[in-house]
Amino acid sequence: MKTDTIAAIATGMTEAGVGIVRISGDEAFDVIDRIFRNAKGCPVKLSERESHTVHYGFIYDGEEKVDEALVILMRGPKSFTAENVVEIDCHGGILVMKRILETVIRNGARSAQPGEFTKRAFLNGRIDLSQAEAVADLISAKNEYALKSSLSQLGGSVSEKIRDLRENILYEIAFIESALDDPEHISLDGYPRRLSGVVEELICKVDELLQSADDGRVMAEGVQTVILGKPNAGKSSLLNVLLGQERAIVTDIEGTTRDTLEEHIYLRGISLNVVDTAGIRDTADAVERIGVERAMKAAREADLIIYVVDGSRELDGNDREIIEFLKNGDGKGKRALVLLNKTDLSPVLDQEELGKMLSLPMIPISAKEEVGIKELEQRIEHMFYHGELSFNDQVYITNVRQKEALARALESLKLVKSSLEQGLPEDFYSIDLSDAYEQLGEVIGEAVGDDVVNEIFAKFCMGK
Ligand code: GDP
Repeated sequence: MKTDTIAAIATGMTEAGVGIVRISGDEAFDVIDRIFRNAKGCPVKLSERESHTVHYGFIYDGEEKVDEALVILMRGPKSFTAENVVEIDCHGGILVMKRILETVIRNGARSAQPGEFTKRAFLNGRIDLSQAEAVADLISAKNEYALKSSLSQLGGSVSEKIRDLRENILYEIAFIESALDDPEHISLDGYPRRLSGVVEELICKVDELLQSADDGRVMAEGVQTVILGKPNAGKSSLLNVLLGQERAIVTDIEGTTRDTLEEHIYLRGISLNVVDTAGIRDTADAVERIGVERAMKAAREADLIIYVVDGSRELDGNDREIIEFLKNGDGKGKRALVLLNKTDLSPVLDQEELGKMLSLPMIPISAKEEVGIKELEQRIEHMFYHGELSFNDQVYITNVRQKEALARALESLKLVKSSLEQGLPEDFYSIDLSDAYEQLGEVIGEAVGDDVVNEIFAKFCMGK
């Protein structure tokens, strides 16, 4: 099938050392032939050169020299889009890149729509949907972990897991269908028991992938963090230490606007988005109460709660409220840790007693003297990544669409389980198994329906 040829500036629209203009499509090589000349100013037919080679020369718009460039040739299907691709490495000025793009367009390409290169890669079967999404995630990755996760997804890690699951499911569907078709030769005696085991395992695996969705989001978007603690416990001081600089002290700002303020801390490759509720520091009791309440409200939504306790004072009503929140309230079960602050002062608080009240990791620190901060950082890192920094064998779902499809697949599998428990007839299992199969297919964007049928017959040649 002939496609039109698209082009776009592939690098950011900012001043940089190098910029790349990318061309993809059947006529990509013709376009470059029209505008490329070698160092001596002679036209050169790059279309006749070998694929995956780099050529030095100049881009010309008619007789006008536009820029010096390195041109990379990639003949399809061995390219990102599986089409002929040309990349022009030029100088990174915005004006230069625009001029080159204009020249390319004047010579036979059209301007690409956002994401069109990736879409072509998908349509041409180079990548599946989860990989296409990984490209988008990769480009917008804000930190090292998000980057690694997208890279691994791009490499097909999610697709591989999903394909495995689907294959298992398909086998069971095929078995049931075939047995119902041909009861004389295939017996379903004892099958429900075997299927129970399989479904149990499938549920576990899908659940695991779903669990990873939250970690995936955390990696992509940052850890939503709330610092709890009574007034003067040292929340702002801690935030300043983590931020590595003194923030401007903001006065006269309404509590409501402070409520939504977020500080971004980059810590060992993890981004923490700290909801800054510590800003409310009026001495009036009422306002302080609101501060703690607001912080607890924010903490309900948080990925991480840091509870700062002033070790130089006794626990007060605010502390008890926070402890109750973490122990039995909405904060229960959340990832949380306790910082015993002000270790540079003589201790008043009984650490052991606090430990009995809250079974959470507790780290003694001094925000003032910056003691214990490294331990805190290590702890946070460990909490989120279980101390494992290798992402190669870990698969993370970072994407809402994928997560929703997985959740639906899980529901279908649970229906199979309950049909099994109720001893319903076999065709019940196969309906819900088929649903699960389709929903998993959605994660990787695989066309479903017909292929279920086709695969059944491809796999189970019954000799009929
Ligand atoms: P917040 O109300 O929880 O945000 O508390 P702040 O960070 O504003 O700190 C309240 C007071 O405690 C300030 O005077 C800080 O200088 C002091 N403070 C904070 N951390 C420490 C610490 O580790 N040691 C000592 N000695 N004082 C601290």
